[in-house]
Amino acid sequence: MLIDLHTHSNASDGTDTPSQLIDKAINKGLDVVALTDHDTTRGWEEASQALLHHPSRSAMKLVLGAEISCQDAQGISIHMLGLLFDPRYTPLREELEKTRENRLSRMAKIITRLNEAGIDITIDEVYAQRKGDATLGRPHLADALVARGHVASRDEAFAALLHNKSKFYINHYSPSPSDAIRLIKEAGGVAIIAHPLASQRGRTISVELFDELISAGLDGVEVDHRDHSESEKSELIRLAIERDLIVTGSSDYHGTGKLNQLAEYTTHPRQWEALEARADASSSSAKVDSDEKWRGVVQR
Ligand code: AMP
Ligand code: ZN
Ligand code: FE
Ligand code: FE
Repeated sequence: MLIDLHTHSNASDGTDTPSQLIDKAINKGLDVVALTDHDTTRGWEEASQALLHHPSRSAMKLVLGAEISCQDAQGISIHMLGLLFDPRYTPLREELEKTRENRLSRMAKIITRLNEAGIDITIDEVYAQRKGDATLGRPHLADALVARGHVASRDEAFAALLHNKSKFYINHYSPSPSDAIRLIKEAGGVAIIAHPLASQRGRTISVELFDELISAGLDGVEVDHRDHSESEKSELIRLAIERDLIVTGSSDYHGTGKLNQLAEYTTHPRQWEALEARADASSSSAKVDSDEKWRGVVQR
């Protein structure tokens, strides 16, 4: 069983369309793949249709999810994976909309800073790099800088100009991680903190914050991930055992935008089963106002 619970399409900052992602996941031999674009559910419909009509008649399962950008009281950026939540839950939908909306003015501010430093780039060039109303992110700005010849790749753009400690960095509105967990759970889903110790991205979270998130309903922790060192993984495994958290592994695939390859890290089938059981419990107490049960797993 190959299970990859964290991938991106061009509904946010990945480079594959949702259909291409499904095609590649099937060809990789994945049994379960989750689509978890940043702050949006916009790729779900295309991905679902692509799976249901795929010529291979594959029995792969598509798990519908999102990676929600969060920020804690100290300003540390935290990514929360929400899986199997009901997108009809208005408070969660509105929160994602608010974040996506704020990403637009934030981009304009980053561009002003770049312009002030003599780096010539416009917001229209950035918009030209995203598909439709995909969640706008720094990778789109990176692509615009590449198109202008300022840098050679997304990676170089981040290393030179766009990383979290850069003088050009500006954050955008995001909910607290506890609020994100609460909204995901109220919508009947499960919450998994993504790459919590990816230290090269900036400051990481403390054990105290972990306990706060567990009180808020955190279900799992992403351990096997390219951005964790072996010692970071060991630390997280210890914590997960101690606190009874579900452990996941995933690729965080972004198409050609990053080196991450589909299924390079995966989740153990028993951990996935445990997540599904938690989602069942979560959906039975969900606050969604509908008689029709939401199905967050698509399978032919
Ligand atoms: P934003 O959501 O606008 O703050 O941008 C953060 C996103 O940029 C992350 O989700 C990553 O997918 C992407 N990112 C971060 N570092 C790099 C890198 N070195 N190369 C390509 N993409 C990156
Ligand atoms: Zn991303
Ligand atoms: Fe992330
Ligand atoms: Fe991600």
